[in-house]
Amino acid sequence: MTKEPNLADHHPGVRSAFEHVVRRNPDEPEFQQAVLEVLESLSPALNTHPEYAAQRVLERLCEPERQIIFRVPWRDDQGGVHVNRGFRVEFNSALGPYKGGLRFHPSVNLGVIKFLGFEQIFKNALTGMGIGGGKGGSDFDPKGRSDAEIERFCQSFMTELHRHLGEYTDIPAGDIGVGGREIGYMFGQYRRLSNRWEAGVITGKGLDWGGSRVRTEATGYGAVMFTERMLERNGRDLDGMRVVVSGSGNVAIYAVEKAQQLGAHVVACSDSGGYVVDERGLDLDLLKEIKEVERARISAYADRRKGAEYVAGGNVWDVPCQVALPSATQNELDAASAKRLVGNGVVAVAEGANMPTTPDAVKVLREAGVLFAPGKAANAGGVATSVLEMRQNARRTSWSFEHAESELAETMAGIHDRCEAAAERHGARGDYVLGANVAGFEMVADAMLAQGLI
Ligand code: NDP
Repeated sequence: MTKEPNLADHHPGVRSAFEHVVRRNPDEPEFQQAVLEVLESLSPALNTHPEYAAQRVLERLCEPERQIIFRVPWRDDQGGVHVNRGFRVEFNSALGPYKGGLRFHPSVNLGVIKFLGFEQIFKNALTGMGIGGGKGGSDFDPKGRSDAEIERFCQSFMTELHRHLGEYTDIPAGDIGVGGREIGYMFGQYRRLSNRWEAGVITGKGLDWGGSRVRTEATGYGAVMFTERMLERNGRDLDGMRVVVSGSGNVAIYAVEKAQQLGAHVVACSDSGGYVVDERGLDLDLLKEIKEVERARISAYADRRKGAEYVAGGNVWDVPCQVALPSATQNELDAASAKRLVGNGVVAVAEGANMPTTPDAVKVLREAGVLFAPGKAANAGGVATSVLEMRQNARRTSWSFEHAESELAETMAGIHDRCEAAAERHGARGDYVLGANVAGFEMVADAMLAQGLI
């Protein structure tokens, strides 16, 4: 944490739980940040349910049920040996088997995986689909690696991880650096080691071997569906709005696609090198070609699209917009960027990524009356569609695109309305942060209490 939080006005159970987390996890700033962001919403729930504090539900919830750390050795194309670290944090299974993605990125460490796993508990609860929370990954950097190197790494990673997985135990999926290619290599290795065709053990599979239509699109589509409903409930409409998306990976690309389908004018997106602005509106086919097929840098977009501009090392939030969809990574939208967005007339910010908005930035946006959708609600469409994939696997069936998309739309509407109702119940209409945290928390806490002290 960058600065000491002031929890003086909060329930004593919130204060003691946060102190406990800081003491036990001193070197994990992202984890502390994610915990604080949830705990700050929970005083009303603790006031109305004294049993939560009496049974120390918060302390129990903040301690993962299981944390697995393992060595991942692999050989590069030149024969050189590399050793990475693999993680799986099985955080909470009160509502169902652990479910959450795998991230391959050099910034991955235990604290990052714990922050993601913690968020996942509430996100998964909000879907109402009976799934617990977990997350995993490795500090492996896939950038610049050949297909053969990726294959060897994924096989080595799964050689250890497979013993901890199972469709009733723990079901991973993709995240940053893990897409369809990586899921394929990992599923193949799991199948080989277990000698079982257990489709429900991993999600994000290819369409010909157990995948679901709309899983690729789901997180980005879902974030925009949530945004549209949030705008509508507040007397606005996405149609015709100017939109900026950060990132240009899986979430970002399909957020652009759905926003365009709904009539928005999407003018900018980014990667870790810089951003592109295209005042005519992003050319989605070109974006997909560059990012999904060529796996090239976003600068290539401006090289090939007349009138588009690339700003190396720039901040995409400098581009004026009415709707901002941060969809790259954690803490990418800070207070200065939030002020810039407010100054430029932003009306809604919805998190496609996990925790992309810093706490100070959230404060700026909320004080300015900007509608703000936290990731654990807005980006839950990915994990929800993973459950739809598992349903199809269990029934040995395969839905049409239209059917899967309508299920996603219904799920996103349900998540939105659950958050809205929880906020209203606690006298905070329109506060989606409080709504998402309280609604998710109460479901998990009640299940934990019902199942005893385990
Ligand atoms: P991808 O790997 O497909 O894309 C990530 C994008 O973010 C890339 O454009 C990448 O640029 C950019 N990025 C990553 N790290 C940084 C950084 N440090 N600074 C600036 N840009 C960065 O990942 P996803 O699209 O799957 O995930 C994006 C976010 O959405 C993550 O927070 C993830 O946890 C979250 N999420 C993903 C879900 C999914 O279904 N995929 C589900 C729910 C949440 P570059 O290529 O240059 O690194």
